Amino acid sequence: LRWEFGFTCAFCLLHESDLAGKGAEGLGLTTIEHFVPARTEPWRINQYDNCFYACRLCNRARSGRPVIDSTGRSLLDPCRHRWADHFRITDDGWLLAREEDGDAAYTEWAYDLNDLRKVELRQWRATTIREHLELIAEAPDLEERLLAESAGGLGGLRTIQRLREGARIARAFMKQYMAIPRDADPACRCGRNDHHTLPSWLEEQTSLLPS
Ligand SMILES: [Zn+2]
Ligand SMILES: [Zn+2]
Repeated sequence: LRWEFGFTCAFCLLHESDLAGKGAEGLGLTTIEHFVPARTEPWRINQYDNCFYACRLCNRARSGRPVIDSTGRSLLDPCRHRWADHFRITDDGWLLAREEDGDAAYTEWAYDLNDLRKVELRQWRATTIREHLELIAEAPDLEERLLAESAGGLGGLRTIQRLREGARIARAFMKQYMAIPRDADPACRCGRNDHHTLPSWLEEQTSLLPS
């Protein structure tokens, strides 16, 4: 389940690394969410298509809320609905139901998708990754230009050293945002170790760190 959902909460879209950069395994921050609650239909507790990878916050927020509310709005199933069709994400991290989309509004409310901690973590992730990637990408070129201009001046060399160090730190820091966290188990309980891969849509979004 963890691999199939790309280490990401199916509902609020927080990645494990947003919750714990050094590895979330064993911390109890992620959980299995039963779309149809085990309380309502106990036999579905181990039914694979009823199980979703979710963060603790989403799991707690929804608690026992029903799949269909009293007004007939239905929770969106992340494996049947594309989130982009039902929600839009703002630059500052809000995940908002599209207008007149009752099911999305109910899902947003039931899972408390805009719990301020989630909003802040989504925003932090977006800006952090963008800024660090920019720094890493620009550093080598800046270094070149400084070298060409400063002609061996001591201050210039010091600046270059700091720049190089900054880029190195940024690269090390970015490792915590790897799509596959470092504590992910490559081998499967079934004994095979070749079929743990990211879902293709996530694989496409995964960028390599510029060296
Ligand atoms: Zn979540
Ligand atoms: Zn297996």
